[in-house]
Amino acid sequence: MDWMFWMPEGGTWNELFVFTATLWVIHQTVSLGSALLFKILHDQERFPTLRAQKGKKPSEEMVKSAWKEWIVNHIFSVPILMAFVLYPLFVLRGGSISASLPSVMEVLVDITVCVFVNETIFYFSHRLLHNRKLFRLIHRKHHLFRQVRPVSSEYAHPLENLINIIAMYAGLVIMGSSFFTWGLWVALRIYETNDGHSGYEHIDSASRHAFHHQYPHKGCYGTAIGFWDRVLGTDQNWREWKEKQRVKAEKAASA
Ligand SMILES: [Zn+2]
Ligand SMILES: [Zn+2]
Repeated sequence: MDWMFWMPEGGTWNELFVFTATLWVIHQTVSLGSALLFKILHDQERFPTLRAQKGKKPSEEMVKSAWKEWIVNHIFSVPILMAFVLYPLFVLRGGSISASLPSVMEVLVDITVCVFVNETIFYFSHRLLHNRKLFRLIHRKHHLFRQVRPVSSEYAHPLENLINIIAMYAGLVIMGSSFFTWGLWVALRIYETNDGHSGYEHIDSASRHAFHHQYPHKGCYGTAIGFWDRVLGTDQNWREWKEKQRVKAEKAASA
């Protein structure tokens, strides 16, 4: 049997290694870097008014078990996925590590498509996972975190993680993006999901996702851009809640 039977024409072991190692390093650096940043901010109780649920923490046990899973996923599953699924798809769509750099316009168009494809697949699959049966079977695990921290972002049932991986990479495959764009998108998407699980409400997207974990059945199913939540009105509860919080804070300040 040909040991490269799954590899499309043009793929090489050398490129497979560079592709996997580069994306893996970007993935880990952004993931661990942002997790560490938010941990320091929480430990030092910085920006207290921006901390979700007044800084209430998830239990130590939950955090420990999520870190254990994170380590296994990031050491085994992530590189295997990158080398044996994503690299062949990259080659199949005409990608090559040695190709020249893309134009700024090309990068912007591809990233815009990635943002929209990711938001669409994530929103509708996530909304479906809130169906009573599917929630119990699959999505409940992710919602065991009522208070979020970055490590909780990938703490989910394997099927849910698989859907999220498809959402994340589909845009790049559809567009046949350059290797540069792959790296940039991985950095942006990993930061975005950790930001949404930061336990801070410094921007609306992070506030929406913290709200979603606090009140799992009150909407806010999208990613950072919140496009479908806005269009379909599933962020309405969050808007009302946010307004109440604002009024409360104002009253407290004037008391
Ligand atoms: Zn979440
Ligand atoms: Zn959910």
